[in-house]
Amino acid sequence: MNIDLHTHSSVSDGKLSPLEIVRQARLAGVEMLSITDHDTVAAYTQIKDQGPASLAIIAGVEFSTQWKRTGIHILGLNIKPDSDAIHCAVAIQHDARLMRAQRIADNLRRLGIENAWEGAKLMAGDSVIGRPHFARFLVDSGVVRDFNEAFRKYLGAGKAGDVRQYWAPMASVVQWIRDAGGIAVLAHPDKYQLTNTKLSLLLDDFSDSGGEGMEVISGRQSTDVTSKLANLCRQKALLASCGSDFHQLGQCWAELGRVAALPLDCKAVWERWT
Ligand code: AMP
Ligand code: MN
Ligand code: MN
Ligand code: MN
Repeated sequence: MNIDLHTHSSVSDGKLSPLEIVRQARLAGVEMLSITDHDTVAAYTQIKDQGPASLAIIAGVEFSTQWKRTGIHILGLNIKPDSDAIHCAVAIQHDARLMRAQRIADNLRRLGIENAWEGAKLMAGDSVIGRPHFARFLVDSGVVRDFNEAFRKYLGAGKAGDVRQYWAPMASVVQWIRDAGGIAVLAHPDKYQLTNTKLSLLLDDFSDSGGEGMEVISGRQSTDVTSKLANLCRQKALLASCGSDFHQLGQCWAELGRVAALPLDCKAVWERWT
């Protein structure tokens, strides 16, 4: 089955509208899709009634949080997007994003870059503001040549834009997801550059908080990473998920619906709702 449970639309930092994602997903032969925007479920008001049964749409979200000193992402899958728990969570995270964006702009000003707040706001428009909007501003204003340089010099881990102290704690994020009827899944565990010991500790803390799953497949990844994550998933008795982390067409490492199958010995998260 073609399953993609991690994608982004233009209501956060993706390029396609929610309706365009659904259309592209059908073209790509996706049979089960989740749009998991950063700290918002606004996509789901735009794609109501989108569903002949050939494409099952599972409501989802990707929340930002912090574990120790690392920024972490947690997917909420099969949530009720209209629930009070999600409305409340999204409001809290939006406040955090606004305060964080102002702090990022202050940090950039100290490095001699003026007007980053206004610039990033303009790039974001109605979307939920995030570092990619700062990246677009830095590229457009000629401070850097491209997106990668923006993250490497200004926005990535350890740089001026790496502000994480505003996010709600991991246990609260997991609880919001559970209260909304969903399953909390640790997103892209291999992307945090944690040692194996730290990653194991993170998964233990995540499970203790009520987290139930982890992504074993995230976009295009090596078979070494897949087997490392599959082993961890089994050891920690977590459910396995898979997704592209699609943001726009043409990125070969994160193409919509191009997600490797889960290793057979993993227990799939969708068994909980199918
Ligand atoms: P934020 O939600 O504001 O923390 O921004 C995180 C988003 O920035 C991620 O979901 C990616 O879409 C994007 N991103 C993170 N790191 C990089 C990078 N090194 N290069 C390009 N985009 C990145
Ligand atoms: Mn993103
Ligand atoms: Mn993420
Ligand atoms: Mn994502």
